[in-house]
Amino acid sequence: MISPRTRGRMVARLRAEGIRDERVLDAMNRVPRHHFVAQALAGRAYEPVSLPIGYGQTISQPWSVARMMEAILQDREVPQRVLEIGTGSAYQTAVLAELGAEVFSMERIGALQETARALLTRLGYRRVHLHHGDGSGGWPEKAPFDAIVITAAVPCALAPLYRQLRAGSSLVMPVEEGEKQHLQVSYWDGSQARVVPLGPCLFVPLLAGTISVVSGECGG
Ligand code: SAH
Repeated sequence: MISPRTRGRMVARLRAEGIRDERVLDAMNRVPRHHFVAQALAGRAYEPVSLPIGYGQTISQPWSVARMMEAILQDREVPQRVLEIGTGSAYQTAVLAELGAEVFSMERIGALQETARALLTRLGYRRVHLHHGDGSGGWPEKAPFDAIVITAAVPCALAPLYRQLRAGSSLVMPVEEGEKQHLQVSYWDGSQARVVPLGPCLFVPLLAGTISVVSGECGG
């Protein structure tokens, strides 16, 4: 059993690390993060680390999720329609849904997407649309979005994504620069992006193409 106090301690740590937006802290206080990792790792779900979710991928550490959410909310209303590229465990998807956004989330690994769909349904998240596909080109049929969140490290600018953003929206992502990565948010006014760096980070890479992988196969 994971007590709600364990989750409260994670939130207190995020506050101590400088996360200020109460909407983000509240949402993360509501999402049962231990359901988004394998049972064997549930006891570590609220620690300040990323954890393996199988297929060589990881659930992002709480600080990275909080910082990305805070960046897209900065001085703004909660974005109504959000594109997430890299569903993974769907933890961040659930945080976005708790914030009140309608979430469109893409994942290139079929088995992760299937697990995410079953879990989000079981937990009662309804305003979430999942798609198995390579998200590098965004999801043009569902555009425009009020925010785009990329949860895998991007090696170069993804220009097509700006065409799927409304004026007054934001795009947050980890950017790869040689051996290093940093988080950055771009505020898009319809013709130009104002880029704000948010500090160093460590994410799995954004990869091209899709793979299906039968559930249970080579997960770890
Ligand atoms: N926020 C997620 C992060 C998962 S890791 C979580 O906390 O669980 C990043 C995810 O991005 C992985 O599941 C990976 O398979 C996926 N990914 C990588 N490249 C992608 C692409 N081009 N399109 C869609 N998903 C991608």
